[in-house]
Amino acid sequence: MGKLFVISAPSGTGKTSLIRAILEDSEVRNTSLGISCTTREPRAQEEDGISYFFVTTERFNEKIRNDEFLEYAEVFGNLYGTPKDWVLARLAKGENVLLELDIQGALQVKEAFQETQTIFIIPPSYDDLEKRLKLRDQDSTDEINRRLKEAKKEVGIGKTFDQIVVNNDFDQALDDLRSFISYGKEQSQERKDLVKKSLNLLLD
Ligand code: 5GP
Repeated sequence: MGKLFVISAPSGTGKTSLIRAILEDSEVRNTSLGISCTTREPRAQEEDGISYFFVTTERFNEKIRNDEFLEYAEVFGNLYGTPKDWVLARLAKGENVLLELDIQGALQVKEAFQETQTIFIIPPSYDDLEKRLKLRDQDSTDEINRRLKEAKKEVGIGKTFDQIVVNNDFDQALDDLRSFISYGKEQSQERKDLVKKSLNLLLD
């Protein structure tokens, strides 16, 4: 049986770039990223069946009725769900599966499979997160404020995850992820101290 990892993070934390790097890492073997179904519109350069399976709300609801999802959730007004068969077939073949889910999805998967390893990526501070959200120039000021508010709620839940990684520095965060996913290793004391310090700041 392969291992199931779920990664969540507040929007703008750098989760997608870190996951991309982990999947290309030569020390991370036999690991694939789950492809979710979503009702949101594809963004430029997103291909059906690669980034997501893009479906209508009607089709999504049919999949819910047919019990085809391991979990599903509404995120920022769109529906997202993890296809159950795809994940279970890979785990049964001994492959590791990584799921990039919102926090509600991560909790649902952990509840269904206690052996799931949950990973939460945090920014070192809200100032840092705000800077990143502004830099990526994707959202309006209102939307950025909404995402920051949401981030506060998410950190309150994510603090209980099995592994917390601070993305203060891309390479260090990648090291933490690689050690945990490939070797099940704990973080160094220095990194643990940074997690504590960052969580204190974020939960203040
Ligand atoms: P985006 O639309 O930016 O690709 O993703 C928005 C959010 O939905 C992200 O937090 C992402 O992790 C989450 N997400 C993507 N797929 C799934 C899924 O299958 N289930 C859940 N619960 N969340 C998902």
